[in-house]
Amino acid sequence: MVYQFNLEKERAPVVIVVSTTGDGDPPDNALKFVKRIKKKTLSSDHYAHLCYALLALGDTNYANFCNCGKTIDGRLQELGAKHFYATGYADDGVGLELVLDPWLEGLWEAIRRALSKMSAPQPKRDVTDTRVSSEETFESLATDVSLHLLSLEPEPASTECLGKQEEIGRAKTESTTPAVKASETGSTVPDLRPVSVTDTTQTSPNRSCVIADHKSVLGTPSGVPAAVAEASLTLSFPPLSESALNVPNLPPPYLDVVLQEATTREETGVPVMKEGFQEVPVSRSAKLTSDDSVKTALLVELDISAHPMDYQPGDSLDVLCPNRVSEVGELLLRLGLMDRKSHCIQLSLQKDTKKKAAQIPSYIPENSTLQYLLTWCLEIRSVLKKAFIRSLVECTEESGEKRRLQELCSKQGSADYNLYVRDPRLGILDLLRAFPSCQPPLSLLIEHLPKLQPRPYSAASSRMRHPGQLHFVFNIIEFPACIERPGGRRGLCTGWLSDLVDPILLHPGKVQSSSTSSSVPKVHVSLRQNCSFRLPSDLSKPLIMIGPGTGVAPFIGFLQQREKEREDNPEVVFGETWLFFGCRHRDRDFLFREELQGFVGNGTLTHLKVCFSRDPPEGTETRTGPRYVQHDLLLHAKDITNLLLRENGYLYVCGDAKNMAKDVNDALMEMIAAELQLDKLEAMKALARLREEKRYLQDIWN
Ligand code: FAD
Repeated sequence: MVYQFNLEKERAPVVIVVSTTGDGDPPDNALKFVKRIKKKTLSSDHYAHLCYALLALGDTNYANFCNCGKTIDGRLQELGAKHFYATGYADDGVGLELVLDPWLEGLWEAIRRALSKMSAPQPKRDVTDTRVSSEETFESLATDVSLHLLSLEPEPASTECLGKQEEIGRAKTESTTPAVKASETGSTVPDLRPVSVTDTTQTSPNRSCVIADHKSVLGTPSGVPAAVAEASLTLSFPPLSESALNVPNLPPPYLDVVLQEATTREETGVPVMKEGFQEVPVSRSAKLTSDDSVKTALLVELDISAHPMDYQPGDSLDVLCPNRVSEVGELLLRLGLMDRKSHCIQLSLQKDTKKKAAQIPSYIPENSTLQYLLTWCLEIRSVLKKAFIRSLVECTEESGEKRRLQELCSKQGSADYNLYVRDPRLGILDLLRAFPSCQPPLSLLIEHLPKLQPRPYSAASSRMRHPGQLHFVFNIIEFPACIERPGGRRGLCTGWLSDLVDPILLHPGKVQSSSTSSSVPKVHVSLRQNCSFRLPSDLSKPLIMIGPGTGVAPFIGFLQQREKEREDNPEVVFGETWLFFGCRHRDRDFLFREELQGFVGNGTLTHLKVCFSRDPPEGTETRTGPRYVQHDLLLHAKDITNLLLRENGYLYVCGDAKNMAKDVNDALMEMIAAELQLDKLEAMKALARLREEKRYLQDIWN
């Protein structure tokens, strides 16, 4: 059934959930609504009848965090609407659930109270005076029902049933006799706490399983104070280990999987040609950093002469990468399916599934072999969601392990989930290693693992300078060892690319033997256009480019294009061109140093500003220069604001979204405020205008 709501008349409590896209813009399906509520003709009591709660979704790595939610919230308030519950701002940068879970938890009570206040007899009033009555009804509620933030301490046992969640194991004394609790939905769930736990003191852990790296923990007998034995992925302590648990409902299974011996010999080593992807050879690869650099950056040059790709500087390319052979092998072994890796998988929907809108994943080609599925289709490293863990409970034999998995997906175990699953980014393989009695069927993995995503990389070349070629540059991502994953690991795609180009890699200062044609590595790539991140067509406009680290990539393409345009248009007076680049050490990771100096030498780049965050090494000399690009920007505040605001220049930011883009944005605001003698709000508006005019452009990634 489709319900139609009309906000113009709605008097029941309304819950609004809204994300943000691009540079703080409303998502497509909210555009019309935002436009409508922004109309200047609306009176200040237009929504006086409306009471609402709003959840804004955003990412603090981007400059305008939750901007669409804030816009809607602010405007509804201006138009007389009232909160019945505090606005939540969920941040994907740190994990939406940190705000989302407690916000949702409080929402039901807030709705209940809002509804009961509505049904309570109201003082008699002039019926036309809706504003006054709605204020009295809901204003106090908004402050009554405050949003409490998730505590990192395990929560005390709760007997309250949360929406449609199941409740597991209430009283400690029930632990020796598995109790059966009826959930709100009618399903029954036995108490799965380990039956061996008899100690009722506050120190009895749930020791769910044995893993090699937890010797000190595993050697700890129950009853040892928590300060000595630490909780871990597999071990919990009271109150959590003795708490009644609210776990999510079991996600309904929906896939049947049949493995059939393949009649034809399947090619498992390469991906089936995906739409838009082309297999192109790597013509050259070079290491751009020295051997003692903290990060390793590699340049990859693709030969696209046989596969014309109409790219422009500012675009990026998607690279398909497979899961690691060793991880696929381990998973096959763990699932007990190694001997059937070459079998074809046949998927069908379970006839009686309770899953709504169940579908066979479209990204799994028909007749794929099992090995192909695990290599090219599923993101086997994806972080385990609580729903997946909930399903894994049902496939786990050992009661201690079962209980720990229940804890990790429960409301009470949220802090443990964050600490031991989300933060170390635990995937299915990590979990199977730690919980030996967990034996999920293949269908469960297909139901829960997301599609293996291609990784985008910015084009670092211009076809005008390098016809038939497309270059990109990347840092090999390295994740240090942690207790849940003692070996550490490299990023999936960057680790794979690095292995791929290793045989032909040119090291700085070393002579390389040329590769034979049979050893030419190939990658599957697809073009991803970014029509807004382009050089202006007016060649006289000044350019300000800010790109530390590999964020310099698109600007190499911009500068190659500019260099060629200068050669082709000697009569044109070009605008000034500034590049702010940053790296750690001038001798180790100054990417594209020669090429950039060449651009300065021939006048393509009028100003090259480079800062070194770790030069000179600490304790040797006193630092004099700027540390980060935003400091360098502030040093040239006068020039930059002048180019931007008086000469209608274009400012581009590219690179790591973690801190840089926000710090640069703050620096720009500070510069504009100081140079134009504006207050913070006016400076923000000036920056917003630049964005609207598409003269302040970002291409940032996590
Ligand atoms: P993955 O294995 O996918 O890991 C990626 C992220 O997951 C990490 O950054 C980290 O946050 C997290 N993660 C994974 N495992 C762990 C762990 N064990 N511990 C902690 N955290 C973990 N990158 C470039 O180098 N150059 C570019 O030019 C470039 N251009 C881009 C353009 C766009 C439009 C976008 C969206 C991204 C761009 N990127 C670029 C980023 C790039 O796409 C990849 O994200 C990056 O290379 C990592 O891929 P990966 O598969 O090696 O890492």
